[in-house]
Amino acid sequence: MPHPDRPKNVVVLGSTGSIGESSLKVARDIPGRMKVVGLAANRSIDGLASQINEFEVQQGCLYDPTGLEALSIQVSPGVTLHTGEEGLIELATMPEADLVLIAIVGVAGLRPALAAIEAGKDIAVASKEILVMAGETVMKAAREKGVRVLPVDSEHNAIFQCLEDRSSEDVSRLILTASGGPFRELPAGQLAEVKKAQALKHPTWEMGQKITIDSATLFNKGLEMIEARWLFDIEMARVDVIVHPQSIVHSMVEFIDSSILAQLSTTDMCFPIQYAITWPERVPNTLAPLDFAALARLDFEAPRWDDFPALNLAKEAGTKGGTLPAVMNAANEVAVAAFLREELSFPGIWETVEKTMNTIAWIENPGLDAIINADLEARSKAKELIS
Ligand code: MG
Repeated sequence: MPHPDRPKNVVVLGSTGSIGESSLKVARDIPGRMKVVGLAANRSIDGLASQINEFEVQQGCLYDPTGLEALSIQVSPGVTLHTGEEGLIELATMPEADLVLIAIVGVAGLRPALAAIEAGKDIAVASKEILVMAGETVMKAAREKGVRVLPVDSEHNAIFQCLEDRSSEDVSRLILTASGGPFRELPAGQLAEVKKAQALKHPTWEMGQKITIDSATLFNKGLEMIEARWLFDIEMARVDVIVHPQSIVHSMVEFIDSSILAQLSTTDMCFPIQYAITWPERVPNTLAPLDFAALARLDFEAPRWDDFPALNLAKEAGTKGGTLPAVMNAANEVAVAAFLREELSFPGIWETVEKTMNTIAWIENPGLDAIINADLEARSKAKELIS
């Protein structure tokens, strides 16, 4: 924990993606409280170069080694540049870093997350894969090292704010809110006709393509149920979902006395990102406050469990645990990519995931290698099912 008079030193892994860019907006908004000390991107050379120059960081990482030379020409010679997984780990363990924000899509964030924890850093997690695939491993490592895993996702950040470190014994239900996606009201019979362009239109949040499709299938909420289970050390039976189309209530906690706490704000990822960074403090910013009178109403409805099988598949994966969540996640990633290439129908996404989950051999207490192996196996199985 840094002295409150100096800004928190933050490494951002995945800085040119949607969450990464929002985190840099936060850094611009609260410069006295957040200092960016390391930046890593996948292959966006120009984007990363301009970020490195703007924030004057001394360490950068371009995951794709083929762009490293082009990047080096665009930044000052004093900047140390890394590449690949080793490079991500180098940044995740920088001695001056207080917090490592992991916003890398996919499995690539997993080892850097564990390396950061091992080095005694708090981590802020935006990558779903970390808690979905290896939630048990990551949370156990964090407890052993006495570091915090701070959620960036709006739902988990909301629950984190409502819980205020209360034990899960006090909780009767975590209630994740879901926008319901663009097909919330579409009759079940028409889901088969859904096209890519329709699925990419999210009603309330501006996000990357993969997560927008996941919001339309409700796999996003399913993955979040699994994340919540590990993050807040609570079994799947106490993780619930409610559809809330306005996305103003970001999630809720119902306690054993049936009292409920909710966290609300306008829909801007800068809110949860900022809280993950400034926690345990609250810091003034320039974000738009919520105007209740202008909102007039907030709606809630039960999710359509039968029409959107992603929720039940996630419940099964989260309850059974072991390698099953990793298999579900990997098969979904492959299926979404195929849908985006227009090679798979919309219901084909969950059909592929279900078939893959039923095929791959299940391992109960997997180590990191077994998890990564299950991920690879599920990917090739899903590809085979699609082709
Ligand atoms: Mg979310």
